[in-house]
Amino acid sequence: MKSPAFSYLKAQTMGDVFSALKSHGESAQLLAGGQSLLAMLNLRMANPSILIDISGLNTLKGIQQIGNAVRIGALSTHQEILSSNIVQTQVPLLAQAVPYVAHLAIRNKGTIGGSLALGDPAAEYPAVALALNATLIIQSATGERRVKASEFFISLYRTAVQAQEVLIAVEFPVATSNQRFVFSELARRKGDYAMAGMAMALSLDGQAIREASLAFMAMDDKPILAPHAMKALVGQSINQQTIANAQKALEQDLHPAGDLSANAATKKHLSRVLLSRALMQAGATHV
Ligand SMILES: Cc1cc2nc3c(=O)[nH]c(=O)nc-3n(C[C@H](O)[C@H](O)[C@H](O)COP(=O)(O)OP(=O)(O)OC[C@H]3O[C@@H](n4cnc5c(N)ncnc54)[C@H](O)[C@@H]3O)c2cc1C
Repeated sequence: MKSPAFSYLKAQTMGDVFSALKSHGESAQLLAGGQSLLAMLNLRMANPSILIDISGLNTLKGIQQIGNAVRIGALSTHQEILSSNIVQTQVPLLAQAVPYVAHLAIRNKGTIGGSLALGDPAAEYPAVALALNATLIIQSATGERRVKASEFFISLYRTAVQAQEVLIAVEFPVATSNQRFVFSELARRKGDYAMAGMAMALSLDGQAIREASLAFMAMDDKPILAPHAMKALVGQSINQQTIANAQKALEQDLHPAGDLSANAATKKHLSRVLLSRALMQAGATHV
């Protein structure tokens, strides 16, 4: 199918973006890497009057460490994140997740801002952002606001970014030496969206888990935390009993509907498997 007709503006400045957003209101749509939006246009799932191409805006690019945070510009591509030394060393959970994002051709064009703003519940970055409670930085013509990931993902393809706003960057906390991270997912083919996936961050106090953050993807209409399983882990060391207790508690957290990739029972089963594997991996690396 072909996309519907639309106008096109190549923005040179953020000012161009905000003035076009003001003139065209909700019928305007931003174009970043185009790796989701162009498919949506061709499938007639989107029908914008104008595409505002932000891909040339250098202010939305770059990855840098600022104090205890790593700031990643919205236009950073998946490939740039994958090859970033700062991400590898300071945000290991994100580094583990990127290889699961799509395929090489898509990783060369697709951006972290596009993925987070789209808010696909089966995508990797939203789950990582939630597990690490990253901060999303949103700009409008009147200024900037900062939104925690726990408030950012609202429902299916709905995030805190409003019609007159642009997601400009995301900040992840720098990992500390007492933390352990595991990202894992199961998909039918490598590069496909996940049937089930999880992002885990543990803070340890000696052998014991002091804090646990578990974010699951492809389980609901947005990425979700698993508060019962997280609570079951706190104060425990990682052993078979702890893993079994956390898996049992997870029953109370996940209520997936089936989708084209897997039915509800399969998704729950896969999540228990992922949780167990992730804990074993974290336990094995903790010596
Ligand atoms: C075959 C295929 C497989 C894929 N597999 C995966 C996968 O396994 N995991 C995964 O996570 N993704 C996957 N993707 C999607 C890919 O990661 C996209 O790159 C990403 O979702 C969107 O980024 P983009 O820069 O291409 O955004 P675009 O397609 O340009 O935009 C997507 C949406 O976000 C909005 N938007 C873009 N940037 C901003 C911004 N800065 N502020 C506000 N709104 C903005 C746009 O208006 C649009 O609504 C796949 C895509 C394809 C085609």
